[in-house]
Amino acid sequence: MAEIVGKLVRISGPMIAAQGMTGVGMGEMVRVGKLGLLGEVIRIDGDVAYAQVYEDTAGMYLGEPVRALGAPLSIELGPGLLGQTYDGIQRPLIDLQRQAGDFIARGLTSDPLDYKKTWAWTPVAQVGQDVTGGDILGSVPETAHLKHFVMVPPRISGKIKEIKPAGEYTVKDVIAKLDNGKELTMTHMWPVKKARPFRQKLASAVPFVTGQRVLDMLFPITLGGSAIVPGGFGTGKTVVEQQISKFCNADIIIYVGCGERGNEMADVLDEFPHLSDPKTGGPLMNGTVLVVNTSNMPVAAREASVYTGITLGEYYRDQGYSVAMMADSTSRWAEALREISSRLEEMPGEEGYPTYLSARTAEFYERTGRVKCFGSAVQGQEDRTGSLTLVGAVSPAGGDFSEPVTQNSMRVSGGLWALDAKLAYSRHYPSVNWNLSYSLYFKELEPWFRANAPAGWGERRQQAIDLLQRDTELQEIVQLVGPDALQDQERLLLEFARMLKESFLQQNAYSDDDAYSSLEKTGHLLDALLSFYEAAGAALRVGVQLNTVLAHPSREQISRLRELNSTGFIEKKKKVVDDMKAAIEGLKQAVAA
Ligand code: ADP
Ligand code: MG
Repeated sequence: MAEIVGKLVRISGPMIAAQGMTGVGMGEMVRVGKLGLLGEVIRIDGDVAYAQVYEDTAGMYLGEPVRALGAPLSIELGPGLLGQTYDGIQRPLIDLQRQAGDFIARGLTSDPLDYKKTWAWTPVAQVGQDVTGGDILGSVPETAHLKHFVMVPPRISGKIKEIKPAGEYTVKDVIAKLDNGKELTMTHMWPVKKARPFRQKLASAVPFVTGQRVLDMLFPITLGGSAIVPGGFGTGKTVVEQQISKFCNADIIIYVGCGERGNEMADVLDEFPHLSDPKTGGPLMNGTVLVVNTSNMPVAAREASVYTGITLGEYYRDQGYSVAMMADSTSRWAEALREISSRLEEMPGEEGYPTYLSARTAEFYERTGRVKCFGSAVQGQEDRTGSLTLVGAVSPAGGDFSEPVTQNSMRVSGGLWALDAKLAYSRHYPSVNWNLSYSLYFKELEPWFRANAPAGWGERRQQAIDLLQRDTELQEIVQLVGPDALQDQERLLLEFARMLKESFLQQNAYSDDDAYSSLEKTGHLLDALLSFYEAAGAALRVGVQLNTVLAHPSREQISRLRELNSTGFIEKKKKVVDDMKAAIEGLKQAVAA
């Protein structure tokens, strides 16, 4: 096919139009202008193609050439992705920086993977075996903790004619040949806007454990589920995403950063490589791929980065891993859609967002889930399942959740972790609002918690929810008629709700012992707190004064349990609770005497 080369006829910020593009396809990549900036065709009108450009178009001239590349925006998948920091179009930022210095020049390209590095290959497939997309050919140790399974790429099948014996190979060496002439290496390309195939979506009955009490206890989501974290500026979205990256139970983290301000992304780039992985003791980056937009990249690159991120996630899911993707913030992606749409002079929908915002959002969230991986059921691979969990931050202007991005995301995700400016302002972190937030997954998860979490998990959880709800109602009454209208039991409830917020829901991200709370600690801490509430309630009923109960030092002891490390928590908790119970028993006997 003849190469399609058109001429620039319009430049409007990140959007260009080129004439003479007959034959180019929707979604096809183009190289724009003499600098060869990468762009994507987003509308075709006769022989005019409109494209969004991933780099700054300043200084380009009308008449410059626009070349069609014949393929949609695709990324290269293979060993060596982990530990990388990419921009939205999979250019390795560290490499680019080496080439260009701090300000990354336009039009630069760099290999997404190290083509020279060799990997210790172990084959599992055999000559003569029929294979199809998703079948595992062999593996290489990508990190000390993670085996990278090299799969037959989607849509390829045949009989293995040759396969390389164990040894050291680069990602570009042919490791297998099929009888139909196909040569396979350890890498393949995948178009980011297309969901990767799987055999079957599965229900998930395993929680995505975050190590954050308010989330794990009150609003847990499944491995393969999704939650959105909407919150105004400074409410703690980035801290939540980073805490989860550190402590969650996924094998791999894909962290997509589209910053509100330029220096915010610089912070991520500075901080992430220094974080350590509490599970392995090694650097967190070993199990992470970072996708970040630098501040000199225009809006279209933000649009690409969330797709690049989720494609990376799907690729490791396909190998049978549980992957968690953090997107901070998806609002920047939606704003990119809005800007491009307005440059195309499309009919605007709500608040200027394109009318297809909801469809795009749904399609995107649809790519999460727990799946039976693709590939044929050979060699005990029939049980290979993987999951892709998504935590999407949303930054609504002024913290107003009624805006379209929050609303659309809420409709397609199963969890809402709503951050609250008032809580953040009073330094209640994580500022998850317990009245607004929810999880649609708890029912599915209950059997798992019953079998694997501290006893009484579901009951204690419900008690906490009811108490917090009752607290909100009582607070309203107090607002209306003052505290004198309350009974002692109600005053106790208010005091206890305060304890629950301070000693259970709050969690300091900067405390070595409390940044992470194991399910065991979470369950037993709540149990300890509720034991105090029950004992105190019983004491009031036999005539002990409210102030006497509240002022007793055992209450302080219970409150401070949160400061203890997860390790060995249960024993320490048991002692404190026993002492507390004995002390309150003493108060009761004093009244009886
Ligand atoms: P956002 O991304 O929503 O703009 P950040 O995540 O940057 O907000 O949080 C703003 C600040 O709030 C942080 O710099 C930190 O001081 C504080 N903060 C947020 N979450 C916590 C937490 N769990 N523990 C302690 N401080 C927190
Ligand atoms: Mg932030």
